[in-house]
Amino acid sequence: MQSINPSTGEVLGEVVESTQEQLRMAIDNARNAFNIWSDMAVSERIAYFDKFIENIVANKDKIASLTSQEMGMPLAQALVDVDGCIDYARHYARVAPKVLADVVTAEDDKSRHVVVSDPLGVLVVIIPWNFPLANIIWAAGEAILAGNTVVIKHSEQTPLFCEFVESNLTNVFPPGVINYVYGAGQVGQWLSEGDIDGIVFTGSTATGLSLAATAAKKFIPFIGELGGSAPGIVCEDADLEGVIDTIYFSKFINNGQACDAMKRLIVHKSLFDDVVDDLKELVESKKIGDATDKNTDIGPLVSEKQLQRLQIQYDDAIKKGAKLITGGPITDGRVGNYFKPTILTDITSDMLVWKEEVFGPILPIVSFETEQQAIDMANDTAFGLGAYIFTENADNFRRLARHLETDMVSQNNISYVRPENPFGGRKMSGNAKEHGIYGFTQVTRKKVISEAK
Ligand code: NAD
Repeated sequence: MQSINPSTGEVLGEVVESTQEQLRMAIDNARNAFNIWSDMAVSERIAYFDKFIENIVANKDKIASLTSQEMGMPLAQALVDVDGCIDYARHYARVAPKVLADVVTAEDDKSRHVVVSDPLGVLVVIIPWNFPLANIIWAAGEAILAGNTVVIKHSEQTPLFCEFVESNLTNVFPPGVINYVYGAGQVGQWLSEGDIDGIVFTGSTATGLSLAATAAKKFIPFIGELGGSAPGIVCEDADLEGVIDTIYFSKFINNGQACDAMKRLIVHKSLFDDVVDDLKELVESKKIGDATDKNTDIGPLVSEKQLQRLQIQYDDAIKKGAKLITGGPITDGRVGNYFKPTILTDITSDMLVWKEEVFGPILPIVSFETEQQAIDMANDTAFGLGAYIFTENADNFRRLARHLETDMVSQNNISYVRPENPFGGRKMSGNAKEHGIYGFTQVTRKKVISEAK
């Protein structure tokens, strides 16, 4: 497998794809390590995990620069993302003893009833490239702390990053606790068909549905964090100061490649022109360029394939009558997978930019007059991950939040993403809830032990 720098097209290196025999060995190693790892006291597992966190802290600059080089996240954002990973990992380690502790549910003179949190066993963890370290920590961090052993298949877009993590960050765990295999979709599929106890997946809805079917045949858990098409609703009473920056940040961070990015903007008619004008001005002030440059705001898309997907969605919108406010494809002498940050209006619900997940820097904007119209448009999607509402009125916010078919909603900000809150969606956005007590719950099973007295 070749690793390509999406900013320049340069080949960064090569990684050998794992064979089916190596996949079997990885699963066997995880199985062999499971008993010792799961029998350890939580405090012992935390001690290993803390060393992993120390490695992240010590390698922060290297992690950020590899992220920028291999998948195109602008360097300044990649540095912030590593800090976020450290916060999440520390939170998991902090809450693990309490969340994983045995719970005495009832006691009488004959019996004492205790509910224990057993790990699920050997978990396959299949993840994408868009936040290459965070995807590992979010998907596997709590699973490992809970006593599971894992086989991780990172994305084929970020194999060098994964090799770095394997050699320099997670090498502190006992052998077999974390195992890595390398390859694309076929390797993920083979892995999911192995002798495993659960699948933890982050990625597209199409792949998630296929893996969920594989898991169902074996009746093992499937934990899926899938795609999203989060709506942002700007209400009539929104205070536009601050809102424009938040919309920009939510949509265009990581070059528009975040699962819960604000992918459709729904603005009250009275504010529509102001929002479009202000966003246009802001977007046009941003610097597009090589992701490894610390002054870059918008870098390239991860791959030629993702660029082509975005181009198809863009062409479809323009063909069906969308109006280009700013941005569009880069047509002259393009090197790297760049697409300008783009704003489209005159959107109709049959356009791909409305119906599909847009994983790149295109923001479609529509207007509404009544609250019911805003709710209907927000819910007019197969996805149900996050949503953002801009209003100065708490009652408005709560009423709208209740009617949105998503599992996370923020008011005037992007505040719901925190290590204490469950992160995950409904509908075609999956069934997972990562972080805090919620994340531990999904990677453990509750066993009742009723002791005789
Ligand atoms: P993808 O589904 O193509 O790939 C994700 C992973 O699955 C990769 O490791 C890939 O090699 C593997 N894979 C592909 N086909 C497979 C198969 N048939 N069997 C097993 N494994 C297979 O997704 P992508 O395009 O790389 O990632 C972007 C998607 O991920 C977006 O839809 C985004 O919204 C989603 N995502 C969701 C979250 C979340 O928390 N909900 C977070 C990050 C990304």
